[in-house]
Amino acid sequence: MPGLRRCAKLFMKENIILQGGASVKRIPLKKVRQIALLLCILGLVVILAGAGLRLIPLILLGCLVLVGEIVFLTLFWRCPHCGGFLDRGCGLYCPHCGHTVDR
Ligand SMILES: [Zn+2]
Repeated sequence: MPGLRRCAKLFMKENIILQGGASVKRIPLKKVRQIALLLCILGLVVILAGAGLRLIPLILLGCLVLVGEIVFLTLFWRCPHCGGFLDRGCGLYCPHCGHTVDR
């Protein structure tokens, strides 16, 4: 099946790009935190509004925004030096490479 093989090849290529890190556009960590906070507040406000108005689609939309925030953080809350994911309580140093992380 040549179609499936091409698909697998493409998938591997994309994986390499993601692991490479350099091709993924970097956003400064301060900006990432601001955007994440904004998405979190927005999601909660939409959920509360949906609950107040008894509109299920609005509640679902708010949940979607929160899920989007988590995906966003997983993609961009990373060390600018090695690309490793930064834990919340790791302080000023990257737990993976030990570089100082300005946030
Ligand atoms: Zn690092």
